[in-house]
Amino acid sequence: MRTSTEDLDLFHIARRQFDRAVPFVHPLEGWRGMAEMLFKTERTIKLTLPVVLDDGFVHNFEGYRVLHNNVRGPGKGGIRFHPDVDENEIKALATWMTWKCALTDIPFGGAKGGVACDPKTLSEPEKRRITRRFIAALGDDLGPHTDIPAPDLYTDSQTMAWVYDTYSMMHPGQNNLPVVTGKPLDLGGSVGRETATAQGMFYVFEHLVSTGVLQSLEGLAGLTVAIQGFGNVGRNAARIFNKAGARIIAVSDSQGGIHDPEGLDLAQVELQKDETGSVIETPGTKPLDHREVLEVPCDVLVPAALQTQITTANATQIEAKVVVEAANGPITPEADDILGDRGIPVVPDILSAAGGVVVSYFEWVQNLANEQWTEAEVQDRLRTTMLRAADAMVTNRAELVDRLGDYQEAWTKVQPDAPPLPHPTLRTAAHVFAVRRCRRAMEQRGIWP
Ligand code: NAD
Repeated sequence: MRTSTEDLDLFHIARRQFDRAVPFVHPLEGWRGMAEMLFKTERTIKLTLPVVLDDGFVHNFEGYRVLHNNVRGPGKGGIRFHPDVDENEIKALATWMTWKCALTDIPFGGAKGGVACDPKTLSEPEKRRITRRFIAALGDDLGPHTDIPAPDLYTDSQTMAWVYDTYSMMHPGQNNLPVVTGKPLDLGGSVGRETATAQGMFYVFEHLVSTGVLQSLEGLAGLTVAIQGFGNVGRNAARIFNKAGARIIAVSDSQGGIHDPEGLDLAQVELQKDETGSVIETPGTKPLDHREVLEVPCDVLVPAALQTQITTANATQIEAKVVVEAANGPITPEADDILGDRGIPVVPDILSAAGGVVVSYFEWVQNLANEQWTEAEVQDRLRTTMLRAADAMVTNRAELVDRLGDYQEAWTKVQPDAPPLPHPTLRTAAHVFAVRRCRRAMEQRGIWP
């Protein structure tokens, strides 16, 4: 097995990405204190959650809720259940939520939460008790105008219904629907939220292809696509690409992957997943291990599972023409460099995985107004928002490339020993745009007092 020697701590990765943006966020004079303020997390809550499991014994889980920055609005971000959840992971994810909301111009800040637990071994009532304990312990640190959770890895609309119910029991007599998004449709959820992350990713992808930004791809018909992850994001991405005429040639989940260079029969893969809990052993497919799916020769690779999946250990093995991130943080900065050197563009997560928070915002607006928008209205607004953000990233990248010499000169004055600025990628351009917007908001508000 190939191993990576780079630092895979997610918060350190978020920092390295931020540091790549800093030289472009002018003016640089006096910027260091502001930059530190923008990167630091505003609040980190760490909880011990004692919960009685079905065995009758008390088990103690660790829960986290991080508010990264709320300069542009209340904190917004998902809750994940996963055994690897730790403080730095949640801090990094909260940071990326700030940049996502700024890039898409959603009036929210960044937040994230998680409980270190193994959802695969938990019964439904156990998950409900963990959720209720977590939300009750967070108390008034959540709120419709302070910090608003949503689904993420191994949590779903059912989990959000429990979040809503718990908060509502603690705050009777008021409209609590906007305290959480990603709720079931019967409980104030928005149409289009379930598919929003994958759909938003696809709108961006389609736009970047049609405007020639992803030059190695000529159109959508017949494209070959490999997808890592077959949950909310990965499965919906497969459906959407398939419907657009692309061929899904490989998919994977936590148990392994499957491959068919002629194109998988998606209906059969979905049936296999529903009946057995995994895509593996779908009849007529070749087995892959869950890492190999990343290395399948294809036009488009969509990581839609976990973070740090493409590292220095496997970046040289990626055989895709384009990588479109649907998971949060699937590629390390060092792997980004390798892919860049190999001419493989990466559409960055803070743009291509932002569809979920965009429709979460729509849900929040609908809840505040007690309205229910139509599917067409949601899709129209989602597409407009995603395309506007994509255009902002592309225009910004062109500006950074054109003026790289000026940025280099200004940076050398404040950091004489710094290495030359790297060629700005789409990720750096997206970060620069988002960080600039947060900085402007911070300056307009002024630093309290
Ligand atoms: P999910 O729980 O619905 O699905 C996760 C999928 O990943 C499952 O199919 C699981 O089997 C698979 N998986 C787990 N470990 C794997 C491994 N080692 N190799 C391959 N597959 C593996 O979660 P989701 O909501 O689809 O989230 C997936 C990613 O997308 C996460 O990074 C999440 O943060 C990100 N994301 C989710 C949303 C959202 O709205 N749900 C929004 C933005 C970003």
